[in-house]
This record gives sequence, structure tokens and C-alpha cells, in this order.
Amino acid sequence: MDYDVIILGGGIVGCAVSYELSKYNLNIALIEKDYDIADDVALINSSIVYDGLECEDTLLAKLELIGNKLIPGLASKFNICFKKKGYLLVANNRESEKRLTEIYCTALKRGIKNIHLLNPKEIYKVEPGLNENIRKAIYSENTGIISPYDLAISYGEIAFDNGVNFKLGEEVLDIENISKGFKVITNKNKFTCNMVLNTTPRENYSIDSQNKINKDRKYLKYFLIDKNTKKDYRNIISTVEENCGKMFLMPTSQDGLLIGIKDNKKISYEGALQKIKGFIKDISEQDIESSYDSLFYNDSLIIDDSLIDKGYIKVIGKHYGQITMTPVIANIVCETIVNNLNCVLKKDFVDRRREFYRFRDLSNDDRKKIIRLNKSYGRIICYCGKITEGEIIDAIRRPLGARTVEGIKRRTGAGFGNCMGSQCLCKITSILSREINKDMIYIVKDSKNSNIVKGRIKEFNEM
Ligand SMILES: Cc1cc2nc3c(=O)[nH]c(=O)nc-3n(C[C@H](O)[C@H](O)[C@H](O)COP(=O)(O)OP(=O)(O)OC[C@H]3O[C@@H](n4cnc5c(N)ncnc54)[C@H](O)[C@@H]3O)c2cc1C
Repeated sequence: MDYDVIILGGGIVGCAVSYELSKYNLNIALIEKDYDIADDVALINSSIVYDGLECEDTLLAKLELIGNKLIPGLASKFNICFKKKGYLLVANNRESEKRLTEIYCTALKRGIKNIHLLNPKEIYKVEPGLNENIRKAIYSENTGIISPYDLAISYGEIAFDNGVNFKLGEEVLDIENISKGFKVITNKNKFTCNMVLNTTPRENYSIDSQNKINKDRKYLKYFLIDKNTKKDYRNIISTVEENCGKMFLMPTSQDGLLIGIKDNKKISYEGALQKIKGFIKDISEQDIESSYDSLFYNDSLIIDDSLIDKGYIKVIGKHYGQITMTPVIANIVCETIVNNLNCVLKKDFVDRRREFYRFRDLSNDDRKKIIRLNKSYGRIICYCGKITEGEIIDAIRRPLGARTVEGIKRRTGAGFGNCMGSQCLCKITSILSREINKDMIYIVKDSKNSNIVKGRIKEFNEM
């Protein structure tokens, strides 16, 4: 056999399972069709670590609650940002007030602690920027925000350092059952293995049974609020769901503000803006930096092990709280795989990410020390985010390092400032080209055919 286990899909779930399995003496590969892991989770995400309060499904609420308790420890171990933020679930009419009380009673029965019912006076003390028509709210102390991309990258880097073989830019076409184990067929190779974990959304490989799930997908529009407007919201705020509509307000890990509107039909920019104005005070069109659309997923989630006797497990469904549940899903799947294979814990597993520097967060003394050791940390590439050439080089040279411009931006934060990369994109492309020894015209933004430079128009060798 080529591998003991092959994991299909390098989203956050695939990466988390690869991390858990890399603690064992197993030969593991992860196959991802994109050029980087966690290519989807990072940008369009609310980054909320839920606690099960608002979840309709009791089992998924339980997974959220357990995940909520695990995430702060993981964030501290991986040296990534996790900020504890309260959650205000607010009701602004009689109907939603009734629903809110039901949600509160259910949450207590689910064993969720540190939640409180607040009256309007108490609500405005907690969050003075809300409009005055709020009648009641549940306040939870349990929730927080995290960068899902950083979490996924951390899982991936440690798994990589502990021997997991990441095959990026390789698409799985089929999985066939062979006499002992599986043959995984990709667009580039054929691999044999004892067990397969499928975390991709594909449901039609030869091995797949017809395990259908309930898919519940609605429309979502996000507004990113300009940081300079200094809108001061301390908590994650959400309205109670009414006719499939809901509004969210989320402080981001970079002290910005994200507003989300969910509806069962596509939402126009103007319509969404109108709704926001009814929700929070003092917001105008000038405050909006950018807006983008996504889907809101509320599928039922299944860890399907109906073919475990053959060695096949599948994680099916997409859910708006899946980042929160990921550590739990990874533990469950890992336990199932380990119980089915003859394996033991590795003695030399290193549960640590290689060190990295975030220059913008360091004191001048620390900056000077690092620059003395490595001059590239003295050259700023992204002026908005104060990101240095050293950080960009590190993002490329790290385990599972970036090979695309988007990969560098997400690992370092470069290009996400007010100029949206207009000052640094060329420099990042040029550094990547130099580091991986590839001509600039072959450097891609994130995927095949997304080349940054379309071709050479002059005789320059450098840019
Ligand atoms: C708008 C939005 C906001 C969200 N906000 C939150 C939040 O605030 N809190 C929270 O807890 N969760 C949140 N989530 C949920 C969470 O982001 C996702 O559910 C989660 O990232 C899914 O991870 P995954 O690994 O299961 O799937 P994916 O990220 O979809 O990973 C699957 C991977 O498989 C790869 N793949 C697909 N087909 C193939 C193939 N044939 N061969 C090889 N690779 C393949 C894909 O490229 C992909 O990388 C949000 C989701 C969305 C969409």
C-alpha cells in the first residue's frame, strides 16, 4: 500500500484530521485540488466561535459547545489570535421576543452556562451603539472570534512537520474499492491505501452510497466597515431569525467590523443597507469599505461511517458553525480511524508550530533585534499593514509554504489594508517569483490560469 490513510480535501476539517492522525505512526497523504490548503475558509467567513446557543440542532449545538471549549487552548498552542467576545442575540418585536425566550430555555436545558436574559436598559449598557427598538436579548459570555485560516494553516503546518504528505493542486477523480483497501485516482496519480477519509463535497465517487443530507442554503451579504469610522462594538450581535432573515454584526480579529445579512432571496445592496440602518446607529454608505455575497449553510452534518468495514469515512454537509465544531469532528474521525488500524502514538510527535514574527505587533526593541539577525525584516513591503519582506519570505519558506500570492496575503495579512494591495501586489509577486525560482509570468493569484502578469511587454528582466 502507498499509504495507511488518504485524506481527501485540504479544507479546515481535512487539515484538522491530518493533524490529529499525525500523532500516530501512520503513513498519511492529504490530497487537495487547489494550490493551497484552506483556500475557501479564510476570506468569506464570520470567524465566530459559537457556543451552541443559537443552533437549531441539539447534536450540532453539543459539538459547538465542546468545540468552543477546545478552541482557546488550540489558539494559544498554535500562537494564533483568539479574542473572547460576548454574543448578544437580540429581539426587536413581540414575535421574536417570544422566540428568544424559547431559545434561552432550550440553551439552559442544553447545559450552556454563562448566558443571561437582558432587558433594554441592560442591553444598551452592554452595547450602546444599537438602535433603540430592542426589546430583549440573550447575552452569552462564551463566544469569541478566531481567524479560521490561521487555525487551518496551523493544523496543516504541524501535520506537515510530522510527516503528512500534502499533495496540492491534485484533483481526486474517483475512489475504487480494491481487494484490500482502496485505489484513489487523481488527475495526476493513482494511490493505494487502507483507509480513506473524504471531506470534499463530492458525493459521486464509485465507492459512495446514496447518503443524502438535508441541505439548507440561504443568501448572505457581507459589508466590511471602514476601520477609520471607529464604530465601537464590543460584542458579536445577531437578531433572532425571522422568515429566514437575520442580521449579524461581528468585530473582526483586526479590530474592524463586519455586518452580515441573511435572507432566503438574493439581497440588493440598497435593501441590505436599509436594513442595517434600522439595526445600528450612525451608519452611512461612506462607512462601507466593501461588500460581497456568499451562501449561508445550515445543512445537517453527518460523519458517515456506514462503509467503515471497508475503510471509508465521509464528512458530509456544510454548516455555519463548522469551524467551531472542527476540533471535535477531527477527534471523532481520528478515533474511528485509529481504532480500525493497528497503530500507536508516535514518540517523536512535535506539537508545535515553527516560530514566526508579526512585526506590527512587536516593540521597537524586539524589531531591532530581529532586523540585526535578518535584514529583510527591515524592509516594509505592505505599508498599510506594516508587513516586512522577512515575513513574506518566511510565509514562502515555512512548512507547507505559500506558492500563490493569495497564500502569502492570507499568511501574512499583506494586501488587506486600505490600498487593497495596489502598493504591494507587484512586490509580493516579485518576491515569490525570486523565492521559488519561477518566472513572474507563471506566478498565480490563487488558482490555475489566475496569473498576475499576463505576459512580457518590454525587455525588462526585473520588476
Ligand atoms: C459565509 C460563511 C461564514 C461562515 N462563518 C463561520 C463562523 O463564523 N463560525 C464557524 O464556526 N463556521 C463558519 N463557517 C463554516 C465554515 O467556514 C465551513 O463550514 C468550513 O470551512 C468547511 O470546511 P471543510 O473542510 O469541511 O470544507 P471545505 O473548506 O469546502 O474543504 C473541502 C476541500 O476539498 C477540496 N476538494 C473538493 N473537491 C476535491 C477533489 N475532487 N479533489 C481534491 N480536493 C477537492 C476543496 O478544494 C476544499 O479545499 C462559515 C461558512 C461560510 C460559507
